[in-house]
Amino acid sequence: MFTLMALPYANDALAPIITPNTISFHHGKHHKTYVDNLNNLVKGTEFEGQSLEAIVTATAGKADKAPLFNNAAQIWNHDFYWNSLKPNGGGVPAGKVADAINASFGSFDEFKKQMATTTVGQFGSGWGWLVADAAGKLKVVKTGNAEVPMTQGLKPLLTIDVWEHAYYLDYQNKRADYVNAVIDKLLNWDFAAKNLG
Ligand code: MN
Repeated sequence: MFTLMALPYANDALAPIITPNTISFHHGKHHKTYVDNLNNLVKGTEFEGQSLEAIVTATAGKADKAPLFNNAAQIWNHDFYWNSLKPNGGGVPAGKVADAINASFGSFDEFKKQMATTTVGQFGSGWGWLVADAAGKLKVVKTGNAEVPMTQGLKPLLTIDVWEHAYYLDYQNKRADYVNAVIDKLLNWDFAAKNLG
């Protein structure tokens, strides 16, 4: 059985950038629904007992497995999103992440610009990502709906959810305000460092 990941902080810890109201719907309703759906979908199939990663990998790009992929990938994406944020996060990273950002983007400001532009520019529901490619170069990419960067050979370091349920209660149509606030105040650079390895 898959379980809903406990938040790594209190549900009011990201306020005022992300309010407890948004967290309660986003984590307690949207994220939980993906978990409930996947548990129902795997029942009695070859996927019962498999890991989330194994299900995502095995079902990616297969039209007849879309419900399994969508729910498994959305659980994976949301687990990764909650870990990509932290209270009093943001700011400028240090150490190897800072070195990789400077080497790949030229400067932290250029990274921020690309992260905001690409993430805000995702048409419809989806995700903005900081990723490392196979050569270790960092890039900013976006994915639609439940799509994940791993299927394109990219290693995710951080993500920002831009499904409307992630920000609409707090920001309504102002997606850019939400994305810029997350970049400036909530990104968890310790998590990015751990993922960079
Ligand atoms: Mn979401």
